[in-house]
Amino acid sequence: MSQPSAMVRKIIELLQAHPNGLTSGEIRAKLGIDAEEQAQLDRRRREIRQWYHLEVEQVGNRAVYKLGERKAVVGSSAINLRVRAQVLNAARGRCQMCGRTVEHDHVKLAVDHKIPRDWGGSDELDNLWALCEDCNSGKKNLFATEDQNLMRQVMCHRSVHMRIGELLRINLGKPVPAKLLEFVANQDDWKKRTRELRYLGWEILVSKTKSPSGRVNSQYTAVRTVEWPEDPTAWIREYERNREAANTQSRKSKLGLDDQM
Ligand SMILES: [Zn+2]
Repeated sequence: MSQPSAMVRKIIELLQAHPNGLTSGEIRAKLGIDAEEQAQLDRRRREIRQWYHLEVEQVGNRAVYKLGERKAVVGSSAINLRVRAQVLNAARGRCQMCGRTVEHDHVKLAVDHKIPRDWGGSDELDNLWALCEDCNSGKKNLFATEDQNLMRQVMCHRSVHMRIGELLRINLGKPVPAKLLEFVANQDDWKKRTRELRYLGWEILVSKTKSPSGRVNSQYTAVRTVEWPEDPTAWIREYERNREAANTQSRKSKLGLDDQM
């Protein structure tokens, strides 16, 4: 398991020194960090869960964070049995990637980390799923080609646009498999999120290749990247609102002209 960063260690030490818990504002104040850095600090605080249980207690209108026990360090082959059973039970005998089943397709299911532990993925239920052996090994091969340290940096961005963008940026001019982008985005609308980067000035090419077995695979290649605005997702939503308003305006003025004719 990777080690906590210096900032994460500081927050852990602070919480250890305050067993009654601290609010996120108190953590920031005690570390002498500017209010502007609160979001950044909250992300670091969330990372603690990779190593420690972190409880949140509502005291009046304050959310107080209390450090719990250190999590057991286990290899991916040793996810605790109860959790493993829960994941397999939730999958109902179906591979969660290709949909083949134990009953009809005689696949064998294994519990796998959606986001690999080497990339900072947790052992929590929402990061685990059941995959058949083909999907599992296909995914491992795909992931093995990436630099693990760079991928950890990509995955620590909370913004889906930044995770997609940073993956494309570290592969500038090189095609990135669609599957990998989908994993990094970790949402069904990952294609739309990728297209939205173009509003920010990114140029991304899509290409398709056919594997020997006849399967069509898509790749995305960034040929031009742009530095991030402060909040890329908010920026993109704002851009869409403005565009929508401009479209409405132009429809209205067209109607206005028609009226005069
Ligand atoms: Zn499968």
